[in-house]
Amino acid sequence: MRITAALTETKGAPFALTPLELDDPRPGEVVVRMVSSGVCHTDLIVRDQWYPVPLPAVLGHEGAGVVEAVGDGVTYVAPGDHVVLTFNSCGACRMCDQGRPAYCDQFFACNFAGSRADGSTPLHRESGGVHGVFFGQSAFATYALATERNVVKVDQDAPLELLGPLGCGIQTGAGGVLNSLKPPAGSSIAVFGAGSVGISAVMAAVVAGCTTIVAIDLNDQRLELAEQLGATHVINAAAGDTVQRLRDLTGGLGLDYTVETTAVPAVLRHAADALNQGGTCGLIGAAALGTEVSLDMSSLLFGRSVRGIVEGDSVPRLFIPKLVDLHRQGRFPFDKLIKTYAFEDINQAVEDSEKGITLKPVLTFGARR
Ligand SMILES: [Zn+2]
Ligand SMILES: [Zn+2]
Repeated sequence: MRITAALTETKGAPFALTPLELDDPRPGEVVVRMVSSGVCHTDLIVRDQWYPVPLPAVLGHEGAGVVEAVGDGVTYVAPGDHVVLTFNSCGACRMCDQGRPAYCDQFFACNFAGSRADGSTPLHRESGGVHGVFFGQSAFATYALATERNVVKVDQDAPLELLGPLGCGIQTGAGGVLNSLKPPAGSSIAVFGAGSVGISAVMAAVVAGCTTIVAIDLNDQRLELAEQLGATHVINAAAGDTVQRLRDLTGGLGLDYTVETTAVPAVLRHAADALNQGGTCGLIGAAALGTEVSLDMSSLLFGRSVRGIVEGDSVPRLFIPKLVDLHRQGRFPFDKLIKTYAFEDINQAVEDSEKGITLKPVLTFGARR
């Protein structure tokens, strides 16, 4: 079928709206008409080739929409179902078998290869193939080809125009707290970076019942929003010794939990140094491949841990509907992070995101086909 996609032609290039041809779904595949598609940091670092995704490609991995067609053998969804698209996983490796699809042994192949497992791409133009299947979707397009495995059915009355980011950025921040760190009620947590992932972590800390929730950033407007959404304290890191200020807030002990969302090595060091004995730091920020950090070994020895977290340890079919319910109840107001843009304005959305004007841009598709 004929679709319109935002193509990334070369490294760092602006997105270019381009008509493409999309394959019919093969067995196990699902075609989804996009209603909304979030812009995530990972789209931009792939555009800039921090990860070796082959170009030209259609990026976008926070799609939500309506099932248009399904391939043979698909039983989980049918045309007309409302779905959120999420990361893909193989479903057949030891980590998938353990219910940990975010650590699928084939995670790179399933999400970053730019093609199906057999090397084919479902996207074509007259001059040849275009890489697709980014995160099993390539959602910067009017229609996306997903697999049965990476679509998550949601209620028909759930607000599809907002739900795209639940598939990656928001589930990453919220799941990092609710699924990975699991702070008991009454515990203390500090979140480094008050972007959409960080503020999602702050909102999840409220849901979990944390009583000390500190947000740290360089941008006072973001810190104000973090405070409105549940941070009990905010720190502008430009004002001086962040670790000391966190110790002062916690009677000299440090935090039970810290969350690092910035991918800056010096910030991860702060997040580790700000822990109390026995505390755990969750690393969420995705740095360029090969980035290293130094940590204090004696400090770690006293029961402190630093652990990496991908996609909030989410099992998406279980976790995304929970986030939809929490939002419906007013307990997880992630819509406060979102600004919507018409699909045509994708480059404006990216510019506003990179300038820090918009926390979570979401493209909406209106009537365009
Ligand atoms: Zn797997
Ligand atoms: Zn993402």
